Amino acid sequence: MGLNKKSVDDINAKGKRVLVRCDFNVPLKNGEITDETRIVAALPTINKLIKDGGKVILCSHLGKVKNGPNEGESLAPVAKRLSEKLGKEVKFISDYNVTGQETTDAVAAMNEGDVILLQNTRFRGKEETKNGEEFSKELADLADLYVCDAFGSSHRAHASVEGVTKFITAKGGENAVGYLMQKEIDFLGNAVENPVRPFVAILGGAKVADKLNVINNLLEKCDTLIIGGGMAFTFLKAKGYEIGNSLVDDEKLDYCKEMMEKAEKLGKKLLLPIDTTIADGFPNPIDAEIAIEVVDADKIPAGKEGLDIGTKTAELFADAVKSAKTVVWNGPMGVFENPILAKGTIAVAKALAETEATTIIGGGDSAAAVNQLGFADKMSHISTGGGASLEFLEGKELPGVVAADDK
Ligand code: AMP
Repeated sequence: MGLNKKSVDDINAKGKRVLVRCDFNVPLKNGEITDETRIVAALPTINKLIKDGGKVILCSHLGKVKNGPNEGESLAPVAKRLSEKLGKEVKFISDYNVTGQETTDAVAAMNEGDVILLQNTRFRGKEETKNGEEFSKELADLADLYVCDAFGSSHRAHASVEGVTKFITAKGGENAVGYLMQKEIDFLGNAVENPVRPFVAILGGAKVADKLNVINNLLEKCDTLIIGGGMAFTFLKAKGYEIGNSLVDDEKLDYCKEMMEKAEKLGKKLLLPIDTTIADGFPNPIDAEIAIEVVDADKIPAGKEGLDIGTKTAELFADAVKSAKTVVWNGPMGVFENPILAKGTIAVAKALAETEATTIIGGGDSAAAVNQLGFADKMSHISTGGGASLEFLEGKELPGVVAADDK
């Protein structure tokens, strides 16, 4: 999919107020940022706009803000870290109203190349509802141009992602996408629509129900679809295997049968675990030491629970990766939070790190696993958006992309 959308290279930011929606939804522990990936990923667009002489107004959400605005979900720590990364002041507007008087005054006082960061957009509450018109307009009132670089939020039609663009257009402004958005869409889009073959897609994680459309869409696009993690057991049960107490979604058994038939009809390989790592039950706490055993996938004893792929499966999956030219991976192969049950996920991560193929990690847990294992720089692309990359892999159009002006 070629991205025929205006980018930051197609707009003239000189002297203009540019509102940039970033994804600064970073993990925090006691007010400290524990992973700055999303901040680093936003730098190319911000630096470009500074260099062009724009007045750069940044905004983002952070966390779920379930109980209303609070200092624990303030973007203040992001302003500080961003300032260090850019090597210049990032003025933080702490205004819980996001677009109130403090903000309008600060914007009015901006010079070319200045950067300010607004408060958490979810502090307004309306960000997530359909009645965000007022907030969308107030955001648009702050700026002449709008740039969306928040890939991780681009699957949501929120005020700061989509709503704002209508008001920018109405006053004759332009809406563009940033470099991060471009990069994400280039990698994910090329992998899905125009992959160098063989194209192997690997899916894992807990539930089949969460990934129904991804399975269906990828089956059509890839050459080999690998399914591991908790979701594999619904497939194994659909094949008639005993799966003990393993995670299962009985309502999706017919769906799994349908997908297996579809794979056969299309001549695609659908690889499922041939052995599995079992235990007496789910570890509690999740990182508890537990006794495990590896058994063939069709020999899971009643009462036991499959919590990771087995050794033969890890080899089978790694072999499929070896001969691939493009690999997309989303979701762990087992309960990787427990080191005893992380072997399958590690084996897949290692196989991806060792192949010459283009490797794309679809955010979320698989991205965390790759980062933790120190394989990040061995991957071609690690998506910054878990939910957004999944929707992309489903073949859905992302509101944040659609809303940008065509070239
Ligand atoms: P998801 O959010 O769907 O990508 O799922 C990630 C979660 O799936 C992780 O927290 C894993 O612990 C969990 N998971 C992976 N494999 C299994 C399994 N065999 N049984 C139960 N949970 C699993």
